This record gives sequence, C-alpha cells and structure tokens, in this order.
Amino acid sequence: MTNQVRVRFAPSPTGPLHIGGVRTALFNYLFAKKNNGVFYVRIEDTDQNRFVPGAEEYILEALEWLGISPDETIGKNEKFGPYRQSERKELYKKYADQLIESGWAYYAFDTAEELDELRKKAESEGQTFIYNHSNREQLKTSLKLSKEEVDNCIANGEAYVIRFKTPVGETLHLNDMIRGDIKFDTSLLDDKVLYKSDGMPTYHLANIVDDHLMETSHVIRGEEWLPSMPLHELLYKAFGWTAPKFAHLPLILKPVGNGKLSKRDGDKLGFPVFPLDWIDPVSGEKSSGYREKGFYPETVLNFLALLGWNDGTDQEIFSLEELVEKFDLSRVHKAGAKFDPEKNKWFNQHYLKLQSDSNLALEFQKILQEKGIISDKEYVTKVVALIKERATFVSDFYELSDFFFVAPQEYDSKALKNWKKETPILMTQVRDLISGIEDFEAKNIESIVKSWITDQEIGMGKVMQPLRLSLVGAVKGPDLFEIIEMIGKEEAVRRIDNAVNTIQ
Ligand code: GLU
Repeated sequence: MTNQVRVRFAPSPTGPLHIGGVRTALFNYLFAKKNNGVFYVRIEDTDQNRFVPGAEEYILEALEWLGISPDETIGKNEKFGPYRQSERKELYKKYADQLIESGWAYYAFDTAEELDELRKKAESEGQTFIYNHSNREQLKTSLKLSKEEVDNCIANGEAYVIRFKTPVGETLHLNDMIRGDIKFDTSLLDDKVLYKSDGMPTYHLANIVDDHLMETSHVIRGEEWLPSMPLHELLYKAFGWTAPKFAHLPLILKPVGNGKLSKRDGDKLGFPVFPLDWIDPVSGEKSSGYREKGFYPETVLNFLALLGWNDGTDQEIFSLEELVEKFDLSRVHKAGAKFDPEKNKWFNQHYLKLQSDSNLALEFQKILQEKGIISDKEYVTKVVALIKERATFVSDFYELSDFFFVAPQEYDSKALKNWKKETPILMTQVRDLISGIEDFEAKNIESIVKSWITDQEIGMGKVMQPLRLSLVGAVKGPDLFEIIEMIGKEEAVRRIDNAVNTIQ
C-alpha cells in the first residue's frame, strides 16, 4: 500500500441522499483535496431488499451539482473497479472462506424459524437473544457439528450464513481521529453475519474487503457507524491487513430538541433534507431538494461545512477552495451539530448577491415568461441590480419588483391612510411636472421633483408617499426615482392618472 490519501464515500442506494450523507461526502472530498489525495465513491448495494431504483444516479448527480464529484467511481477512472459492490459479488466468498479456514469465522445453519424461536424464548424469560460466544458452540454451527456433518449439510444444499467468531474477553484499543482513544471489550460484541445465504456478503464483510482492496487510507463516516468500529478493526486483524484510520463525524441534529435530523423529517419541518428533489418510485411521494428550492451549491457546501467544523475563527463564509485549504479533521467536533434552516437562508442571500446581475436576469426572465411577461434582458438586468439585495432566492424577485413590469392592479389598503383630500391635486401637479422633464434620468427627476416640493413648502412625505403608492401600489420597492426612470415617463404619468381616478 502506498502512503497516498485515498478516502471514499460509500452510500447504499436505498433512497435519496440525506443532507447528512452529503456532509460526509463533503468532508471526505475536503480531506482528499487538502492532502492531494483521491476521493472515490463506492456504491454499497449488497442488500438487495433495500435497493431503490434511481437512488444511485441521484447520489452521483447531487455530488456533481455541488461540484464535489469523485475522482473515481462507476464509469470514471475505475482503478480498483468495479465500484458497485453487487458487481464484485464473486470476490467476497473467497475472503469469507479464508476466515473460516483461519478460524475467525464459522458456518451457521440455523433457519430463520429456529432463530425466531430462540428470540421468543429469550423474550419470555425477560432476556434478549444474542448470537455470540455464549451460545455459538451449542447452536447449529460448524463449531458444534463435526467436519462430516458440516460437509453433509453443505452438500445437501442447506442454507447457511458465515458468522464472525468474535474473540472473547479481549480489550481493543481503538483510535478515532475525532474522538480519540476508545477502549472496547470484545465480549460485548455479537457474532455478526459476514456472508448471507443469498450468496451476498453483508455490509461488514464487503466494506472491509473493499476498503482494503481499494487502498482506503482513512474511513470518514457518520457517527452512526461508530458501534461497528470494533468489529471492523477485528476484521482487519483477522485478515492480517493494516486498518485504515477512522474518523466518525458528529450527528446533525434537528433545529429544535436533540433528535437526529432524519430522512423521515422530509419537508415536515419546513425545509428540505435532501440536496435535490426526489420522487419515490413506489409511492410517488415527492420530497423537495435544496437545488429546486433555489439554493446555490455554494450555499449548501458552506452550511454543511460548518455543521461540526469551524476553522477556529469567527469566519462563516467559505468558498470551496478555502474549505479545501482550511479543512482539518482535528477541528471537527464530537458533539452533534444543530441544523439551522434560517442561517442556511442567510448563506443563500450572500451567495445570491455574488451572482452577476446578467446571470440572475436570465433566470428571472424565465419566471417572467411563465407569467406572460416578455421583457428585454437589459431592462431585467437593471431591475435585478435594484432589488437583489433584498432577495434570498430568485423566486423572491417577482414579489420585489412586479411594479417594474405591470401597473398596480390595486392599492395597499394600509397605505391609503396617506392619501388625503388634497392628494389628488398634488399628484396632478407632480404628474405635469414629470411629464415636462426632458432629461429623464433618476438623479435629474429627483432634483426637479424635490426642489418643486421645497419651493411649494409642502412636506416631503405628503408628496412622496402617495407618489409611491400611485406608481408601486404599496409602500415597498427601491428608490422611487429609479423606478420612475425605469418605467419611463409615459407609464409614470399613466399610473399617476390612474391612481387619481381610482383612489377615493
Ligand atoms: N454503506 C454504508 C452507508 O450506507 C457506509 C458506511 C461506511 O462508510 O462505512 O452509510
């Protein structure tokens, strides 16, 4: 094995990729790039019962959207391929057999019914049945049966599994790069199935064999896998292989309370827990994703990076390049990290402002078109420049700028209190004033209108508020003179007339 850093993201294609999984992928990506290493994706699909069509494509598409695609995966630089475990099926049996030969594993012929019986019996005695050192020599295993009996069972086609023969009474000294030293008593472990009767390895066997064969240097994964670490270390020992270094990332917690943010939270809490939209192939149920909600990939990377990590300063905004430069596993926390959907929006506001006006205009034009509004790119770009400061998503644009495209259909009733008896006369005068302006540029309109107000000795508010109401229909929007310049003289005049004629 070389000293090259090789890390992997190893999802099981059992549904859409949860945002916690995306963070695991991101931390692996960052660690690989930081150390000039390789980030690869291996699909762990040995559990045929949980396979969900479309999930694998979804996972790879999500990583691509985020800009953290693997260096190696299915169909890409398959240096240690195949990268899909179901296609490596043939390979695992040999390793399971190897453990049998070396005494680290044994055959177990118990049927599902027999095991069920044992479970029920234990339960009725107020106990839990655990398959381990206490009973493996009494159960129907190759540890109890003679060599001939075992050979016969196999020759007769009896279904069997291969179980790990966990050593008894050993203390394991484990090290996790985030959690430090952990001591573990092997007697507490059950004898996990490594190889199933359907001819497929279990997660544990396939994971260890593949991490070894694919020369994985570090295993960076979610905290939920920490309990598997003792078994995994033992498996490396059993094979006589050097184990990779382990790092277990803290849980991502719900915004309120202490529970783990789960897949089932879906849209229930009012925000997506998936990177992309997902339609369940069986139920047809739709779960929303960050992409379709209008979040930028930069936003998602940024907020995920801060779930359980910081660079030791107060800095919150990080580009992907900066994250690669600053990321360090030693700064990943042990404690769970609370998900903060409001903060995530704040990040999006930031990244939206960084987009060019002209790109935003292209996106906004699509929304306008859906509303039947055709407006040229130059005009839309100017509108975007005036309103984007106030938006979190492009989908907020229309609400913030409808008056640039259509005259008010109605007037905000709350604002009507500023429409006094003398307002119609004032508005008619302003209308005449505006229609006489030659140089129709915001600054010029402003100085003409304002000096007129001053000359007439009328309060600013008496004119400006009803004028905004006439042009916009509400007390909202950017600088009024910018709006007048943008909609143009004729339209401004028309809107003022309309207000004077309609508002009572
Ligand atoms: N296939 C496992 C999962 O679905 C991978 C766990 C690991 O990284 O070892 O998360």
